[in-house]
Parts: sequence; C-alpha cells; structure tokens
Amino acid sequence: MGAEIKAELRDDVRKYLQEQARPPGLAIVRVAGDAASAMYSKAILRIAEEVGVRARLEELPAQTSAHELRAVLQHLNVDETIQGILVQMPLPAHLSQKMVADTITPAKDIDGISPRSAGDLFLGLPSFLPSTAAAVMEILERTSTPLAGRRVVILGRSNVVGKPLSMMLLQKNATVTICHSRTTRLADFTRLATVLVSAVGRANLITAAMVQPGAVVIDVGINALPGGGIVGDVDFASVRQVASALTPTPGGVGPLTNVMLLKQCVQAAWQEIENKKRNNG
Ligand code: NAP
Repeated sequence: MGAEIKAELRDDVRKYLQEQARPPGLAIVRVAGDAASAMYSKAILRIAEEVGVRARLEELPAQTSAHELRAVLQHLNVDETIQGILVQMPLPAHLSQKMVADTITPAKDIDGISPRSAGDLFLGLPSFLPSTAAAVMEILERTSTPLAGRRVVILGRSNVVGKPLSMMLLQKNATVTICHSRTTRLADFTRLATVLVSAVGRANLITAAMVQPGAVVIDVGINALPGGGIVGDVDFASVRQVASALTPTPGGVGPLTNVMLLKQCVQAAWQEIENKKRNNG
C-alpha cells in the first residue's frame, strides 16, 4: 500500500513541477535528545527523496531555548521554499508541545497538531490530519472496509491517534467507541467491534478471545522487546486465526504514517498555489 501511495505522490509532484519551478519543500525540525526520533527523521527524508519532495532536516541542540525554537519555526512559516513543517516529538522537557502547535502556521501544519487543524477536524471541515490517524483511515479506505453503520472500537484516546481517528470515523458514519486505561471489562467492548484499532503501547494486550471472528484489526502500538525488536499491541499469532485482516508490526501502520505525512506535504503545496491564485484573482 505504501508503494502504491508513493507512486501516486511521485506523479502528483511531477504535475506540480509543471506549474512550479521548484518541488514542494518539507522542513523537519529535530531537537536532540531522543534517539528514536533520529531514526524517524531519516525514514521521512528517504521517502521524501523517493517521491520528489525536497526535504531538509534542521537539527537543534538539546539545550535550544523555547525562544530559539519559536524563532526557527517563525522563520520556516515565511520561508517560500517550505510548504510543510514537522517538529519531531518528543521534545526535551523544557520545551512545550503547545508552543510548537501554536507557532506553526496552519497552512504548513502537515502533521495536524495545531489547534486550528484539530478544530477543523472536530467541525468536520477539511484539515491536515495527524499522520498516524490518517494512515489508519487510509488502510481502511484502500481495503474498502465498510464503515458506515459499523461498530468501530478504538483503544487509546491520545491527541495523535485515538481522538482524531474517532472524528474521522464519525465522518464516515461509523459507530465509534473509545476505550482507555480506565475502561473496565475491555473485552466486552472489543468483542463488539467489526473494526478494532489498538493504539495503546502494550504488547499482547489484544488476544484472540477479545476479537470478534471476522473483525478487521489495526495494530498501531509499537512496543520494544527487552531482547531487541518491536511488536504491536496485538498477539499476532493468535489474533490472525480469528480476524479477517490484521496489520503487522513492524511493517504496518508505522511506515504508512511517514508516507501520509509526505502526502499532506504535497497537498499543502497545492493548497498554497490555489490560495495564491484566489488572492490574485
Ligand atoms: P499515549 O499518548 O501513551 O496513549 C495511550 C493510550 O492508551 C491512552 O489513551 C491510555 O489511556 C490508553 N491505555 C493505556 N492502557 C490501556 C489499557 N490497558 N486499555 C486500554 N487503553 C489503555 O500513546 P500514543 O502516542 O497514542 O501511542 C500509542 C501507541 O501507538 C504506542 O505504542 C506508540 O508507540 C504507537 N504509535 C505508533 C505510531 C505509528 O506510526 N505506528 C505513531 C504514534 C504512536 P489514558 O488516556 O487513560 O491514559
């Protein structure tokens, strides 16, 4: 699926270059401190190159102040070569995610973190989406999974996955239930789901007994194993016996998340052209 979307994006960027002298530009801002985010940056840069987006990584030292980070973002907001801005999370403790979300201009907020993007999504208006939630929707849509009138159960209510995904699924007329750490009798909910999404971060949380036969199961969780390697939230070996479809970890939602980020960057670039045309005419 990732390869298919990347091919579409390459075509789209080619069309974009027929109208514009330079390719869409992506800026990844990374404040040193989190080793895993360095890996994510590299993966995003690689996909950007594959699809023809010109990406650059702004690496800032761990002691960067809030004032300095804000200045970098404000500069990117007005940089004409940049159409999308991604700030890698997590940030060091002295830097606030809210400041970042408030500073990135909504037009370049390709990971849907700004209050404007979140508000538009809540209101059912077109908006940039948190890319992991967008990846889950893309999987459901490209596999033609029926959603209207179906019971979808989401485990996890974070701002990056559970909450935005619930809004997107409501727009598709699904009946959505969100479970979280205070939910009691979790299996009573999961067994009702025709589509089950787990975004918790706990290995083997979902077992076959918790899944309705024939359900579609999307595993967003990423859990590091003590001996190395990663697994999702779903006990893959047992759940694959009952589910009609199940995403693997690694290799499922994760890689598609980065592709969705690039997709939204190209979308931001097209929107910029449209806005300029509208303002000029
Ligand atoms: P998060 O902010 O820690 O949220 C986890 C959610 O799970 C919370 O809402 C929490 O409930 C809920 N939860 C915890 N224990 C639970 C339980 N026993 N039963 C039901 N719900 C429970 O994490 P996140 O950022 O959303 O990420 C979730 C997982 O997805 C992590 O493993 C993360 O690594 C992975 N992830 C993957 C991608 C990707 O690209 N594939 C991207 C982002 C995240 P409370 O709200 O009550 O605390």
